[in-house]
Amino acid sequence: MSTVLDKLKNAEECTWINPNLKAAKEALESIEFNAEDVADAAARLERFAPLIMHYFPETKETNGIIESPLTEIKNMKAVLNEEGAALTGKLFLKRDSDLKVAGSVKARGGVYEVLKHSEDLALEAGLLKGYDDDYLKLGTAEAREFFSQYKIQVGSTGNLGMSIGIMSAALGYNAIVHMSMDAKQWKKDLLRSRGATVIEYEGDYGKAVEQGRAESDADPKSYFVDDENSSALFLGYAVAAGRMDKQFKEQGVVVDADHPLFVYIPCGVGGAPGGVAFGEKLMYGDNVHVFFVEPTQCPCMVVGLATGKMSDICVQDIGLTGITEADGLAVGRPSGLVSRFMDVLLSGEFTVEDAKLNPYCRKLWKSEGLYIEPSSCATFIAPSRISVCSEAQKYLEAHGLTDKMDNATHIVWATGGSMVPQEIRDKILG
Ligand SMILES: *Cc1c(COP(=O)(O)O)cnc(C)c1O
Repeated sequence: MSTVLDKLKNAEECTWINPNLKAAKEALESIEFNAEDVADAAARLERFAPLIMHYFPETKETNGIIESPLTEIKNMKAVLNEEGAALTGKLFLKRDSDLKVAGSVKARGGVYEVLKHSEDLALEAGLLKGYDDDYLKLGTAEAREFFSQYKIQVGSTGNLGMSIGIMSAALGYNAIVHMSMDAKQWKKDLLRSRGATVIEYEGDYGKAVEQGRAESDADPKSYFVDDENSSALFLGYAVAAGRMDKQFKEQGVVVDADHPLFVYIPCGVGGAPGGVAFGEKLMYGDNVHVFFVEPTQCPCMVVGLATGKMSDICVQDIGLTGITEADGLAVGRPSGLVSRFMDVLLSGEFTVEDAKLNPYCRKLWKSEGLYIEPSSCATFIAPSRISVCSEAQKYLEAHGLTDKMDNATHIVWATGGSMVPQEIRDKILG
């Protein structure tokens, strides 16, 4: 383990296999959320579907459910294999890059938390009579007037702010997004165009969160979305697995003891990948193997997990800068809540150099005609690592998977992209 820590300190790409991974049943029992909580979140999203459709007509196709396509990427698999990977089985892209409303994985958790808070407020005020009431009532002028007395605030490197800002502004709230220095200009511009207030900080994500939280806490009519500890965000993300299972069935993908599933997700503070991972483990237990990917200069989750210090350590503590082009992953300290869960659920992590992000982005565009944002391209390191590096080979052996890899399904989780303006895409795609 010390060798992994040395590599992390030196900002070298590395593989970390989680020595604390537990059998799924035992791991899930140690976590304070369960399948019922995820079902409750899924039901809440169903209740809100008519209102989502009302404000975001682009969700009509899916009846107000914000869900993304699952696409097999054979050409990209061939490209990765030409470049040294030895991946067998099927490779899919889970395209949360194309989620409606916010254009990133944050359209799951972020939107969910705003809706949950709105439901709470509306029930308390009698605007909704109960769960079976008509949720379109929350789209009336009267409801907007009601929500406009309240603030929703969040600290963000970009995408979480977009989902919270877009959704809360749409409902009529006074939305305030505290953006770290890593946040891209176009994200701030877009938010302002939707009516959200954007406050910019010189400092990193931690600073933006701290300030946002302090301002929100000082105002009784303000609600703070706490990316570092939010259970609502976590459960909103966890809904993904059940929906993906339906897509698997439609596409004939089998997950069982002989057909392992590998899921690779880029990690920032941990909420999005952690929630998705939790949902996947609930769904597929020991047959799913979840790996996170982080930038070499900002691998906060693996630093927290590998040292056992969780959110009591940040990347700067081991001499890293925390600075990365992967704006969505530019978080120096992991979520305390999520790191505790991942300690027993996560199979491992891979770190990746920034220099690989744009090339992956171009390769995906050229081979598949799909665009995802650079942060989200970090995960393309995973298919080669899992199929080649010695640490991963040992993991596969230890789990009796070596001779099952021809039957494996690999999911690269694309976490953002559809809202990136054309001129910025052009710059990256060259
Ligand atoms: C937010 C984000 C992630 C990671 O989510 P966390 O909850 O911060 O771990 C990954 N990719 C993109 C593009 C993101 O916006």
